[in-house]
Amino acid sequence: MQLLSTNTTVIDLRQKRVVPGINDSHTHLIRGGLNYNLELRWDGVPSLADAMRLLQEQVLRTPSPQWVRVVGGWSEYQFRERRMPTLAEINAVSPDTPVFILHLYDRAFLNRAALRAVGYNKNTPEPPGGQIERNAEGEPTGMILAAPNAMILYATLSKAPKLSYEYQLNSTRHYMREMNRFGITSVIDAGGGFQNYPEDYRIIDELNKEKQLTVRIAYNLFTQHPKKEFEDFENWTKTVKLHQGDDMYRHNGAGEMLVFSAADFEDFLQPRPVLPENMESELEKVVRLLVANRWPFRMHATYNESISRFLDIFEKVNKEIPFDGLPWIFDHAETIDERNLDRVKALNGGIAIQSRMAFQGEYFSERYGNLAAEQTPPVRKMLERNIPVGGGTDATRVASYNPWIALYWLSAGKTVGGLQLYPDQQKLSRETALEIYTRGSAWFSGEQQHKGSIKTGYMADLTVLNADYLKIREDDIKNIEAELTIVDGKIVYATGDFAHHSPPAIPVLPDWSPTLIRSGYFPSGDISLINEGTAAAAENGRGKNLASAIHQCAGSCNIHGHHHQYARLSNVPVSDFTAFWGVLGCSCFAF
Ligand SMILES: [Zn+2]
Ligand SMILES: [Zn+2]
Repeated sequence: MQLLSTNTTVIDLRQKRVVPGINDSHTHLIRGGLNYNLELRWDGVPSLADAMRLLQEQVLRTPSPQWVRVVGGWSEYQFRERRMPTLAEINAVSPDTPVFILHLYDRAFLNRAALRAVGYNKNTPEPPGGQIERNAEGEPTGMILAAPNAMILYATLSKAPKLSYEYQLNSTRHYMREMNRFGITSVIDAGGGFQNYPEDYRIIDELNKEKQLTVRIAYNLFTQHPKKEFEDFENWTKTVKLHQGDDMYRHNGAGEMLVFSAADFEDFLQPRPVLPENMESELEKVVRLLVANRWPFRMHATYNESISRFLDIFEKVNKEIPFDGLPWIFDHAETIDERNLDRVKALNGGIAIQSRMAFQGEYFSERYGNLAAEQTPPVRKMLERNIPVGGGTDATRVASYNPWIALYWLSAGKTVGGLQLYPDQQKLSRETALEIYTRGSAWFSGEQQHKGSIKTGYMADLTVLNADYLKIREDDIKNIEAELTIVDGKIVYATGDFAHHSPPAIPVLPDWSPTLIRSGYFPSGDISLINEGTAAAAENGRGKNLASAIHQCAGSCNIHGHHHQYARLSNVPVSDFTAFWGVLGCSCFAF
């Protein structure tokens, strides 16, 4: 209270639980923001019946030639029915509007309209490591599979229409607001496939210049060019100043992709991939360059077998060009063993863990057994060694961005489907889980001295929760949301008792966006609008556009069909598939 001045706003928090702002140390916010307003999220939806109803609602309001897309964040085990939808069900809900549904890292469902839109047919070849499921006549069924290369999934998605520049600005703001809704105040962005620097950073640059960021972002640079990764990093180490930017938006080094040949696929429905022999020479070249330039780096690494080989390279480089305290990170590290943990510690590395097992734990247990799953990832062993550990999600394409799902996974030791992955001795206390997600994550952008605690001299990032995380029933952790989120001393999100402090609402663009009637994660007050239809939506004041969108689309769908079809035929994005897959590179992998 000695810091109080006449300019200070005093808010009575009414005994509610306050925690430091949540910091997701591995996510893909910048790419996710460009697409958020286009995506129907199934994150947290409790049943397949609900999920299909949401899909149907969105099909009705989506104008041609747009698609309806559900891009990760769900697992069939969260559904009461404990199964995925079938292609027949998806086609019945949407005979005419393209629908693309991504499931984890392993498959995507395309309805017939989406197959027509992307132009996949009998003659479409399959990229290496990808599979287009076909019927007896050789025609694609609509199911595409990573086998185990997920490139086919993301390359297919990339053929869908994109938002305009103006809409991407709006979409990114809504995505940040959605993060604020869960108390997130900082993230570290791990780049991502098809997320080119600097082209695809114009939106986030502009929002930063306009002072419209409501989440602090540190970003790592991800190479997009298989076999030319060294050239990318050589160029960036010359043109990008390390840590350029400020406390809201700053550069954070290289990764999570350093070389494509080192990408091990985290699809636990498939056997573990063995990395190619040329990986070592390619990785060494890039790591030498980064260490010589004192660039911190992070590296995607799922399996212990891959990690052993990466560490061989790091230790070799370290002998000639000492790491000498340079911060570096392994991302994921689900199956890392004790010996490799010691090696990480010896080289002063950190490990960023994510809630991927909350979504894929059932598959992992089935393939490798419950005992192996208990140590996946071995978070306690990391902490025992004083290895820096950061919390995160790897959202948006597999796990949900909701950090409370991750905190539930870490403290309750369960998947979103309720499978008990970890025994008591492997679970973390709620305090430790939260610490990983706040102070722990701050290490990963070199900000541990002034971020992640509520203390004098630290960044004024904090969040007030709608329930007491430390005391509520375990299952209720999944339902926690923020009531008040403060970034840099400014209120960026307020609801409930604090609603009168809320910053002005941001309009939603385009007016058929799924986020118009319901923001991303399922347990939302807005959900009733869907059940009650457009009258309730209109009452809400946001419903005018929605009502007209539904009217237009539902009212004239048969006639509309011609336009849909015409637009699609004139808009097949790729005509030469061999060249298309070739351009992306055979060993290519997108995250
Ligand atoms: Zn990764
Ligand atoms: Zn990632």
